[in-house]
Order: sequence, then structure tokens, then C-alpha cells
Amino acid sequence: MTTVATPSTVAARATGLTKVYGTGETRVVAVDEVSVEFGQGEFTAIMGPSGSGKSTLMHCMAGLDTISAGSARIGETELGGLSDRRLTQLRRDRVGFIFQSYNLLPMLNALENIRLPLDVAGRRPDPAWLDHVIDIVGLSDRLRHRPTQLSGGQQQRVAVARALAGKPDIIFGDEPTGNLDSRASAEILGFLRNSVRELGQTVVMVTHDPVAASYADRIVFLADGRVVGELRNPTAERVLEHVRRYEIHQEPNGPREGPASPSS
Ligand code: ADP
Repeated sequence: MTTVATPSTVAARATGLTKVYGTGETRVVAVDEVSVEFGQGEFTAIMGPSGSGKSTLMHCMAGLDTISAGSARIGETELGGLSDRRLTQLRRDRVGFIFQSYNLLPMLNALENIRLPLDVAGRRPDPAWLDHVIDIVGLSDRLRHRPTQLSGGQQQRVAVARALAGKPDIIFGDEPTGNLDSRASAEILGFLRNSVRELGQTVVMVTHDPVAASYADRIVFLADGRVVGELRNPTAERVLEHVRRYEIHQEPNGPREGPASPSS
């Protein structure tokens, strides 16, 4: 078991984290004794083939799923020791989320969606901060629009602003640009990177897209539920090289090779 990276201040940490689903014949070790640290003010991407445990690891580290063994911490807080109520509080107050499907409430306008987690928590937003965040994601002239009146890229900008609004210790993104075209995707990734550079935000993002991953400071590669490599200051080309290398010893059936056969 190797521990990856030792940044000066750790925003989140997994130690020997293991997640098993099912029992007997349906038993799957989705995450297998993973030890990894995410440094404060860093943008990390988690990559790996489909089924390698990326989402499970992220969900366990974000307190969205229980773990089977090992530990997960946000800052110094051990998630395993928390009651459901405390865990809900921690997610609400210290963690931001960005999902592929935006998850905005259709009856609320953009500003109301951005403020929602703070309102639910009974926290007063810092007005200067909120203005700054809205400015950074370029939503100032769309605040009264409802999600259906916004493009996919704009909806995801609302989701990014919502995640940033409460100044969480860490933001977790699960394929945050998975539904966007390449231009909107580049925009969102640029915002995330700026939030790390300019606001000191910590971001961890699951992605299968080498271009998306190249926006990160660091990439952690998973295969078969384990950490198999790491890349710092990645470029899309170097990411592709690594992806190829790790996919070779993954997927025993391999990706489909050659052209698809005609279907009729
Ligand atoms: P990735 O995000 O890399 O595609 P996942 O974390 O979704 O991988 O899944 C890792 C493994 O755990 C896969 O074999 C998947 O089938 C299994 N798995 C994920 N979630 C569940 C679940 N709720 N119940 C049973 N098995 C699951």
C-alpha cells in the first residue's frame, strides 16, 4: 500500500480505504485499500477505466457512501465516526458537489439555485464573495433565469457557482463536463482551474476525458480499485500516454478492437 503525495496541508485523505458491494457471488471490491491525499488549493483529477472505482472512491471520500474498511477524512474529521446527522451537516457545510447532470431545481432561478445550500443551512452568504463567484463564472446577466432558460454550459456554471458559494473545504466533481460540448466544457474547466488558482479552492474531479484531466495540477490513476499511478502538471498528450498504459493491463476482455461489424 503506497501513499500518494504528501502536500503540506491536506484537504481530504483516504487511508486503506476499501469499499465492498454485495456478498458471496455478487461481491465486488470496488475500492481496494486506497491511500491518497488531496492537498489544499490543488486541482486533482481521478482517471481510470470504466468500473475502476473512481466514482465509488469519490463518493466514499465525500461522505455520500459508507466505507467497508480503512478511513476517509475531510481535514481532520474522520467520516466513519460521524452520525448520519453530523455527516449531513459536514456535507452541507464543508463539501461542494458538481455532478454531470447539474442537479438544479427547476422552479428556482439561477441566483436562488446558487444560494440554496446556504439558505438550507441557514447561513448568510458573504455578499462580496457571492458577487465575486458569480462574476468569475460570468452569470451576472443570467441570475433571474430559470434552468430551462439556460444552456447546458450555463446550467453547469450555476452548479459551479453553487458549489463555490459556501467556500467549502473541498469540491468534488463527478464527470462535471460529461454533458457539455467541448467549448462549454473548456469554459467550466477554466472556471474550476481559476477557482483553485485565484480563490485557493480545493477541487477533486472524476473524469475519463484526457483533455478535461489536463486542466488539473495532478492526476491520480485507478485500475481495479487501486491507485496505479500519478501524473503532475499533465498535458493532454501525457495523459493519453498514461491512459493507454493503464488500460493495457485493465479490462481483461479489452476494448472492442477494429471496426464494428455491420448490423444487418
Ligand atoms: P467507475 O466510476 O470507475 O466507473 P465505479 O466506482 O462506478 O467505477 O464502480 C466500481 C465497481 O463497483 C464496478 O465493478 C461497479 O460495478 C461496482 N459498483 C459500483 N456501485 C455499485 C453498487 N451500488 N452496487 C454494486 N456494485 C457497485
